[in-house]
Amino acid sequence: MHNHDFTGTSPHLILINGKIATVDSNNSIAEAIGIFGNLISHVGTTQELLKTTGPNTKVIDLQGKTVIPGIVDSHNHVYQAGILMEGVMAFGLESIKELQEAVKAKVSETPKGKWIRGGGWIESQFAENRMPNRWDLDEVAPDHPVVLSRLFAMDLCNSKALELAGINKNTPQPQRGTIDKDPKTGEPTGILRNGAQALVSRLIKDDYNSNYNFQELVERRVKTAMNEYLQYGITTVLDPGVSVPVMRGYQNLYKKGELPIRLQMMPEAYGLAAISSNKSDPNETEKFMDYLGINDPFGNEWFSIGPLKFAVDGGVGSKTALMYEPWIDGTKSNIPLRLDFEEMEKLFHKAQELGWSIGIHTCGDKAQDIVLEAFKKVIDRYPRNDVRHNIIHGYFPTDRALEIMKEYNIAGSLQPGFMYVEGDLYWDVLNQEQIEYFTPIKTYLNNKITVACNSDMISAHYNPFYGMYSAVARKTSQGKSLGAREKISREEMLRLFTINSAYLTFEENTKGSIEAGKLADIAVLSHDLLTCPESDILKTDVNMTIIDGKIVHSNIN
Ligand SMILES: [Zn+2]
Repeated sequence: MHNHDFTGTSPHLILINGKIATVDSNNSIAEAIGIFGNLISHVGTTQELLKTTGPNTKVIDLQGKTVIPGIVDSHNHVYQAGILMEGVMAFGLESIKELQEAVKAKVSETPKGKWIRGGGWIESQFAENRMPNRWDLDEVAPDHPVVLSRLFAMDLCNSKALELAGINKNTPQPQRGTIDKDPKTGEPTGILRNGAQALVSRLIKDDYNSNYNFQELVERRVKTAMNEYLQYGITTVLDPGVSVPVMRGYQNLYKKGELPIRLQMMPEAYGLAAISSNKSDPNETEKFMDYLGINDPFGNEWFSIGPLKFAVDGGVGSKTALMYEPWIDGTKSNIPLRLDFEEMEKLFHKAQELGWSIGIHTCGDKAQDIVLEAFKKVIDRYPRNDVRHNIIHGYFPTDRALEIMKEYNIAGSLQPGFMYVEGDLYWDVLNQEQIEYFTPIKTYLNNKITVACNSDMISAHYNPFYGMYSAVARKTSQGKSLGAREKISREEMLRLFTINSAYLTFEENTKGSIEAGKLADIAVLSHDLLTCPESDILKTDVNMTIIDGKIVHSNIN
């Protein structure tokens, strides 16, 4: 915490008559906040704060509204989100018709022949109750190639996109993927799964280079996404798995003072290549770790380097998570792992030796066990307390996994919002016991493991209230229950999206709670998250967002 004495100072801004959920160590509730410069200077009663006013103090009457610390979205692919937002944002669309309308709108502003991208659709939310297909898209986009990603390693393409990729009824199935074909005619339906996605996505060429124009593109997309996040009270994001050209784009924005919100980025390390393509090169990772000469956490409260991002397996919906048991349909995960476990362990050793933290995507129970045994080995060899390794996703921790995470202080970075957005599909893949244990936040907490919660935009919607709702209600968007055992309290929920997420970025002393001396990052809400009916959490609007002491979004007069 910044060590400042604010006695006698007059805040430039005070918020009074609120319900301030401070998320301090006692979960105290206050009435009013004072902000001096970019810091919180006072937290107390309305009366106390009114006594601090000076001639230049602006006073905002919250009229009973609830205030929480600015949300730290500790897993959010910001740059990818920008791409999506500039294309077709299909999250939350409730019919194929709505999807068509969204594509049509994009078509009207895109020159013929140019690619239209987008994603976030899921057929379980469509009123038509069927998979969308290429012909649905052709109706509104006959002349533009269109590719719209679905959650879980699947793309929907129109005929133009298939044509450019040379995919037709005679195209053989790729090794690690599926081109869905109509059972009667043999015509491709436009759905490409896993390894087949690359047949089309590789044609889109504007990614991953270091030239000047690309950096401009990165900057524009990042701003698009971050300006949207402000409306949701998100004041810091941790971008997990950033390529070098994108890092450069971020840095340019930082240097120009144009980052709309605070950012920590995790450099892409090992296993980050698409699951369909070849594994990434461990030698490159080793060089990067060593030659950079610095490691996480490096930077300041606006822009910093975070842990290295590794990835092991795929996900549940696409049946690409590495599990001990077969899926409910009897099939086993037959997946190309994204990394070689022996190489991984070597890299863990190097990282631990140098002081890099590691955040690693592991979804399946077996993957998580293997990764944790590797962590245990390297931590035993080079014990140190300046790293914060974490398991990302960790859907089904075994007893052994919980034991290692507790003993070795390895945190969990979890995404309860998945349950809301895509949970309706889990019954196709998981048995009832697995469904009720999926993302077992309560179990992690009971085992004294540090848990941070986040959105994983673009795998789920960035709206933090979806995740908060899921963490306490454990319900899908269609209202199905994933069991009550792993529900957590509202107070816990708030901590996991704020102060605990700030722990992942090494910033729990400057962010994540409303206490004097901390950065003035604050969200004013339309609903009282601590007491409102569960379903109202989903309807919560952010009425005001303050970052660094400045109001950056407001619809309060
Ligand atoms: Zn992710």
